[in-house]
Order: sequence, then structure tokens, then C-alpha cells
Amino acid sequence: MTVSLVWLRDDLRVADNPALTAALSSGDRTAILYVLDDESPEVRPIGAASRWWLHHSLLELQRTIAGLGGTLILRRGAARTVVPGVVAEVGATSVHWNRRYGTAREIDVELKKSLPDAHSHTGSLLHDPWRVTTGSGTPFKVFTPFWKSILAGPEPRLPFPAPTSIPGVTVPSDDLESWGLLPSRSWTDEFSSVWTPGEAGAQNRLARFLDAGLALYHRRDEPGIESTSGLSPHLRFGEISPYQVWHAVRPAVTPENRANADRFLSEIGWREFAYHQMFVNPDFHIRNLRPEFDDFPWQQPRADHLTAWRKGQTGISLVDAGMRELQRVGVMHNRVRMVAASFLIKNLGIDWRIGEAWFWDMLVDADEASNPASWQWVAGSGYDAAPYFRVFNPELQAAKFDPDNAYRARWIEEFNTPLYPEPIVSLAETRARALADYATMRAERPPT
Ligand SMILES: Cc1cc2nc3c(=O)[nH]c(=O)nc-3n(C[C@H](O)[C@H](O)[C@H](O)COP(=O)(O)OP(=O)(O)OC[C@H]3O[C@@H](n4cnc5c(N)ncnc54)[C@H](O)[C@@H]3O)c2cc1C
Repeated sequence: MTVSLVWLRDDLRVADNPALTAALSSGDRTAILYVLDDESPEVRPIGAASRWWLHHSLLELQRTIAGLGGTLILRRGAARTVVPGVVAEVGATSVHWNRRYGTAREIDVELKKSLPDAHSHTGSLLHDPWRVTTGSGTPFKVFTPFWKSILAGPEPRLPFPAPTSIPGVTVPSDDLESWGLLPSRSWTDEFSSVWTPGEAGAQNRLARFLDAGLALYHRRDEPGIESTSGLSPHLRFGEISPYQVWHAVRPAVTPENRANADRFLSEIGWREFAYHQMFVNPDFHIRNLRPEFDDFPWQQPRADHLTAWRKGQTGISLVDAGMRELQRVGVMHNRVRMVAASFLIKNLGIDWRIGEAWFWDMLVDADEASNPASWQWVAGSGYDAAPYFRVFNPELQAAKFDPDNAYRARWIEEFNTPLYPEPIVSLAETRARALADYATMRAERPPT
């Protein structure tokens, strides 16, 4: 009897899982392993909201795999030690995983050399970053030509079907509860009213979006209506793959919704673009992609300002509604993320990395590529970024995208009452200060 091992990471699904499919065809029995690695310095420790999601996603995956006859083996520790240990324990003669693209990739490169018959597969991105380059072979730094070059290439492969059975291997596994992933505070109570982590939840979201959201996607900037997919945490944890999304959207295209479908798929493209940026800049959650921003004269963060921002008490209603949505359900509408991030960076003068770290802790879709890429986009320090001098005016944004107050009234209980706080800063004065700071940076260190 031969045993193969599949090591799951950000791909918590059985359908369209190339590593699982390959493992099933290369051994009589397949051991399925998930390692909670909070020891390796190359792995960015996940935030509190993501830990909530991970707990529920693993629970769901355990059930799915058990229903197919297999077992999900849970272990905790440094992957460099744990994975070879389990390979020896189950007697695996081949090992499979789907690639990751951040610093943790260093661990995979090492293990690939030392483990028997180890194979990495492309499962989380439509294209490995080294396959999409400019004509001169360098990584793209601008989204439009990046996406055009992808669209000019062949269609992404079809998704692999889910296995019908998984002949498993029984070895000891940690008890998921013992990992203590759920927060002790009750702040995640409302999460489960909105989210169903796991593969089935992801497929339901996609079906709901194709049914109702896609036709409204041209209104994706309006936070008060449900016109976007809500797929981001499912994509983040790999409960659904971009191939499954792509091949579900394509047949749903009609002459009426074509523009919406193209736009939606281009957002999947932004996700890819973020990963391609991370592949060449694995430390970009702490490093400005534009070095001139290293000299930016950030303000010393005022504790009261930071607290007001985090709690949604700034007196700027669109920012506050977004920050309260984040607290209560672990996400924030994309347009509002841009406005809330711009307010922190530009109106409060606080280094984008402080905001990035807060989102990393609080978002259920906190993504090691999309979060830093988006923060750097707003700050102006990233690739193809909004120029720093574009300072969102949150009041104008609210009037334009939440004209009937639906979004703000939903998240701010005391909205439009005397209990709602006064603005903590003047938008006009802080905008002027932000532009002056930017001019100082440019004078000291012109862009290269
Ligand atoms: C400051 C800031 C921080 C962000 N942090 C994250 C993050 O940690 N994780 C994350 O997934 N997205 C992040 N985004 C991007 C975006 O806000 C979310 O992907 C989107 O709100 C998710 O909602 P949806 O699934 O309904 O999106 P849809 O509009 O339905 O888009 C479909 C999918 O495309 C991807 N996508 C959409 N927009 C973007 C984008 N701008 N960049 C990268 N991928 C995108 C997501 O995977 C999303 O699920 C951030 C944006 C900003 C401005």
C-alpha cells in the first residue's frame, strides 16, 4: 500500500484542489495535513478575525473530508519540523501542496528539496507570477497592461471536480478546540449572522452573486446595496478557487451583463496583481514600494485619534460607518475601505502601516497580498497607486455613494442625532497639511 500526503494551507477545499487531486492519484491512501504554524518567522501570524474564520473553516473541512472517508490531520508547530515528521509517521512516498507566494515560500523551497517526491501545484492564482511578465521579462507595475496580457493569453484551465472518496490514513490529530482560535471576547458574535465559512458557504455566495449581484455590479461603489460578491474571505482561505469563480461567471455572461462580468473578473485580476507584487516584494506590508516615501514626514500618531478611528468615533460619518462595520462583521465595503484608509493616512497623517496592521487583525478577509497592496495604493507608495495628492473627501464620497444614508444609518446607531460626535479634525485643514507634507517629501527626495 502506498501513501501520499497533501499539505493544505490557504486552500481549504476539496473541489478544484490540484494538490489533493494529484495526491489521490499517486497513492492508495492519502493523508491530509493542516499545520498551524505560528512559530516560523516567515509566516505572518494571522489576525484575530482570521483566526475565527480559520476555526470554522477547518471544522467544515473536517466534516467534508470525513464524509468522503478521509481524515484531516491537524498539527501545530514549525512546518519545517512538523511536515517531515508526519511524512515519516504515515510513510508517505509522495507529498503535494498548492503554492504560496509570500515569505513562507522559503519554507516550501527548503522542504521540496528534502522531502521524498515533493510536488507543488498552482491552485490559488490563475497564473504563477513568474509566468506573467512584460515584454522585457520584468514584473508588471501597472495593472491595465498586466490584465490585458492575461486576457490575451489562453483561458484559465477548467476546475478539477471534487473527489468522490478519500481513502484516508489514521494518525493522531490535534483537537481543533485546543488551538484556541476563537477570541475570548464576544466581538465576533455577529460574524456568523453574515458568514458561513467553508466550501459550501463559498459556493452559496457565488450562486447568490450570479443570481442577483452581477446585474447590479455597476453599482459596486454604493455601500448601501448588496451588489458585490462577498467572496473575499472565501478566496482568502481558498474555500473557492479563482478558476471556479472564472468558469462560473463566463457562462452567466449575457449581452446585458457583459460589462459587469468583465469588471468583476478584473477585480479577480486585482487580486492576482497584488499577489504578483508580493512575489517580488515579500516584505511589502512593512516596506514602501516607492522608496521616496521612506522620507515621508508622518505625524506622531495621537492615541486619541487612533482610538477614534479604530472605534468609528471620528465624527466623519462614512469613515465611522465603515470602521463599525469592520468591528461587527469583519469586513468593510471596498469604497469605504478606501475612504477610511485615506482619512487615517492623509487627514490624520498616520503611517499607512499602522492602518494595515489594524485591518490585518480585524478583517476576516485579511490577505497578505491584497491588504498591503491596497494600503500602499491609497497611500500612493505602491505600484499603480492613487497619487498621494488625491485626498478623498469623505463627505463628498458619502453624498455621492450613500446619498440616502442607507449605509451610514445601518452601522451608526446614533446617526443624525445629537449623540453623534463632532469631527475630530477639520477636513480642509488636514488636507492642506497632507499636501504640504507631500511637497516636503518631494523636495527632499524626488521620485526615482
Ligand atoms: C485599504 C484596503 C484594504 C484591503 N484589504 C483587503 C484584504 O485584506 N483582503 C482582500 O481580499 N481585499 C482587500 N481589499 C480589497 C477589497 O476591498 C476587497 O477585496 C473587497 O471589498 C471584497 O469584497 P467582495 O468580495 O464583495 O468584492 P467583489 O467586488 O465581489 O470582488 C471579487 C473579488 O475580487 C477581489 N478583489 C476585489 N477588489 C480587489 C482589490 N482592490 N484588490 C485585490 N483584490 C480585490 C477579492 O478577492 C474579491 O472577493 C482592500 C481594499 C482597501 C482599499
